[in-house]
Amino acid sequence: MQQPVTIVTGGSRGIGAAVCERLAADGHDIVVGYRSHDSAAEKVADAVVAAGRRCLTVRVDTADENDVDRLFDAAAQQLGPVTGLVNNAGVSGPNGRLVDADADGMRQALGVNVLGYLLCARRAVRDMSRTGRGAIVNVSSAAATIGSPGQYVHYAAAKAAVDAMTVGLAKEVAADGIRVNCVAPGTIWTDFHADPERPAKVAANIPMGRAGQPEEVAGAVSWLLSNDAAYTTGAVLRVAGGL
Ligand code: NAP
Repeated sequence: MQQPVTIVTGGSRGIGAAVCERLAADGHDIVVGYRSHDSAAEKVADAVVAAGRRCLTVRVDTADENDVDRLFDAAAQQLGPVTGLVNNAGVSGPNGRLVDADADGMRQALGVNVLGYLLCARRAVRDMSRTGRGAIVNVSSAAATIGSPGQYVHYAAAKAAVDAMTVGLAKEVAADGIRVNCVAPGTIWTDFHADPERPAKVAANIPMGRAGQPEEVAGAVSWLLSNDAAYTTGAVLRVAGGL
């Protein structure tokens, strides 16, 4: 069996960082894709190496087609054929009511949250088709079905697009030996939020009474990439404390 090599976009912080550490513990070599925080990416790489796995860090803007190709080329050249992709890099974009959202801010956010996922998935499928083996996990959000009124309707719409691409692509590439699934987190304690205390503030509206930890999302991602999920494709797994 070939050593799993998994690219995690947005792997330098928050949910992505927890995913990298969990996958390393579960035996994956890791490529950390990140936008700008070099020191955060290096810290994750140190943790992966400490777990006994190989790690590569690559600066990338996932909304840029050439950058995405550079990320996958570097992974294949330095670690071998890519077996897994965790499409995770995301941004909230403008916060507030849609009537006040600026077009450039929404365009940029949609570029990362939708086009970026499509570009990474497209390249992953091209590479994985050659070996006839691979798994993709998209990180969407419970916002896709809640809609996030007054907060970021454009972001919720982008995450609904991620759910839809998961279902369609899963069917499109099932016969190529590639599985495509999705994890939809609720509110998680990371630096993602414009208001850093938001996870505490929304806790009362969550059936389990608290926001989640990044590690609680990472376990679901790791399972979907594992052989235990060999018959699972096209699934959207909600990890949202009952929301
Ligand atoms: P985060 O803490 O803000 O981390 C975002 C990560 O994405 C960072 O590693 C960042 O790199 C990277 N990134 C941002 N834009 C990028 C780009 N254009 N190209 C490459 N990398 C980029 O966010 P998070 O909370 O972990 O969120 C991770 C995913 O979970 C996102 O898709 C988000 O929508 C989703 N999600 C989050 C929550 C939540 O409550 N936190 C809930 C549901 C879903 P740098 O470190 O270099 O900036």
